[in-house]
Amino acid sequence: MINNTFEEIGKALSAGHKILLFPHINADGDAVGSCIALCRALRQAGKECWILIEDRIPGNLQFLDDDYCTLDQDILGKPDISVCVDCSDMSRLHDRGKRFLTAGTTVCIDHHLTADRFCDLNYIDSNAAATGELIYKLLLACGVQLDKEIGEALFTAIVTDTGRFQYKNTSKQTHEIAAALYDTGIDAGYICTEIYESMRMEKLMIRNKALNTLSTVAGGKAVIAYVTQEMLSETGAFMDETDGVVEELRSIKGVEAAAFLKESQDGKIKVSFRSKQSLDVAEIAESFGGGGHIRAAGCTLACGLSDAYDQIKERLTACLGRV
Ligand code: AMP
Ligand code: MN
Ligand code: MN
Repeated sequence: MINNTFEEIGKALSAGHKILLFPHINADGDAVGSCIALCRALRQAGKECWILIEDRIPGNLQFLDDDYCTLDQDILGKPDISVCVDCSDMSRLHDRGKRFLTAGTTVCIDHHLTADRFCDLNYIDSNAAATGELIYKLLLACGVQLDKEIGEALFTAIVTDTGRFQYKNTSKQTHEIAAALYDTGIDAGYICTEIYESMRMEKLMIRNKALNTLSTVAGGKAVIAYVTQEMLSETGAFMDETDGVVEELRSIKGVEAAAFLKESQDGKIKVSFRSKQSLDVAEIAESFGGGGHIRAAGCTLACGLSDAYDQIKERLTACLGRV
């Protein structure tokens, strides 16, 4: 299906006044950074704009939030426009779906391979390394002058979704956009210190515990690990402080795929998949009702941890072969 143009999306945004932005649930650096950049630009254009979240922003991203994010679904009443950002489908709006749909116009800006195109206006480009790249292009197409704060938010979006410019989604254009962001006056070293070197001790503790659950599958071609609510209370860590564990699992020599299972407060199991070179984990995640990208995908299973563990183990074994 064909995308709307950035000009069409820009025109819709300028016609609205009350605009609500929706990052996906369990917002990451790309979702938060992209939303903050867009929110700031829209406020500068005189719009009433908020980012509606429903969980805590990860601690290492809080340096970006200068009163842009709210948990209050009624902050604007019925918005003129709802924009979902880095969010591939309605289910990832979680409890905010109803509020999203009350807008006169809905817009989706995303880079997931499995994106649903469920909005009135859609711009989905799975070649973009981060939604931040798309927000950059949108702002440029709308003639927005990028300031340092917008630059910092977009740099955060791109640096996090590319694993610090290391993942295969990183392109020449990714670097060109990042380079252009330097012209806004950003200090990339400062941003990376905030994101990667401001860890709470509790985070190190929970990563340690989670890594201790590691076991290998398919003769070492895959690894599985998990984190439980009990492990969180023992360490005093937040669930988002396990972000990065699944990439660490994948980084083991000889490992093609990693699965990390997170026991949510409601007892459901959120699974993160990563692959290195060949396995399409979006396909696996989709078969469990989730989605994502070829090398990074996820799903949620409505069963207990050991049941989920067995299902994932069986699937990875089937996909990577018994050795
Ligand atoms: P995560 O493991 O949560 O970092 O997610 C990896 C990738 O898969 C991200 O790009 C997510 O946006 C996507 N993803 C995660 N969970 C789901 C889900 N339940 N449905 C669709 N996409 C998902
Ligand atoms: Mn994301
Ligand atoms: Mn993203």
